[in-house]
Amino acid sequence: MSDLRFDGRVVIVSGAGGGLGKAYSLFFAARGAKVVVNDLGSGLKGEGSSAAAADVVVDEIRRAGGEAVADYHNVLEGDKIVETAVAAFGRVDVVVNNAGILRDRSFKSMTDRDWDDVLNVHLQGAYRITRAAWPLMRKQKFGRVIMTSSAAGIYGNFGQASYAAAKQALIGLGNSLAIEGHKYNIHVNTIAPLAASRMTETVMPAEILAALKPEFIAPLVAYLAHERTAQTGALLEVGAGTVTAHRWQGTAGVVFKADQSFTPSAVKARFDEICDFGGAVTYPRTIQDNDWVGLVERAKTLGPN
Ligand code: NAD
Repeated sequence: MSDLRFDGRVVIVSGAGGGLGKAYSLFFAARGAKVVVNDLGSGLKGEGSSAAAADVVVDEIRRAGGEAVADYHNVLEGDKIVETAVAAFGRVDVVVNNAGILRDRSFKSMTDRDWDDVLNVHLQGAYRITRAAWPLMRKQKFGRVIMTSSAAGIYGNFGQASYAAAKQALIGLGNSLAIEGHKYNIHVNTIAPLAASRMTETVMPAEILAALKPEFIAPLVAYLAHERTAQTGALLEVGAGTVTAHRWQGTAGVVFKADQSFTPSAVKARFDEICDFGGAVTYPRTIQDNDWVGLVERAKTLGPN
């Protein structure tokens, strides 16, 4: 099977000076894309900046015969990153929102600054770049956007309140943009990767890290970014060559009579039933899948709780 290519496509990868973003940039460039390698060149916690990170990746791409340009802006200046792409290559087809920092601390010890900085890089950064690229994508009736969430964002994690909040928010942003972008052929999907990088090298054993190459995330990102990929609004966990899709699951729940008899005690009496995933379950995919009108009608037929 011939591999998917990106000839003529312009791809912005944020935070592409190392780790996953570097792997994506090399992957796209090797398949014909023109890549904007954005990286502020900061430390893991967001400290400092350096042009070297992006430059090294651009050099590697060019030495291999590919096309790339470096961009050193903070993702908070997403409009400038998009300007770099347009100035160098005339368009933007794909945005991979990947830049990130960590400030792992328990909620008790976290500072307001930690909270703001983490939310800013992950959430505001993705918002600013996507917001600047959006009108171009709408006009050309083509765009592919990848949001980078995390298992911490899906499930929560000790010491990662700020990071998890940002990463869950990116799922909501991605899902909403998938709906708004659909009629313009703008597809938006969210990944939750696991890979060896400076983010994970201190928290995982070496033998596991060896199996978690960033190169094993890139094929999924490239597939989602391809012009013939119809998928939008997905949440995918990916690592070490395993890709899984995730969706919401609801219980059948309990319909209470909505009157004075709907008390905390009534909820208590049937709370196990409310939370019973062993019985009938639902898989709502959109806001409209919750049949509130039907449930209100059904509640009317019930006796007191
Ligand atoms: P990394 O630290 O190697 O890469 C992040 C890059 O973002 C760095 O090169 C950094 O300089 C850049 N960056 C930071 N702040 C920036 C800013 N304001 N503007 C522009 N660039 C900035 O980490 P990674 O592991 O490659 O992570 C990539 C993405 O994947 C992140 O969003 C991260 O949260 C997410 N992620 C990674 C893992 C993992 O297992 N590595 C797990 C879940 C999610």
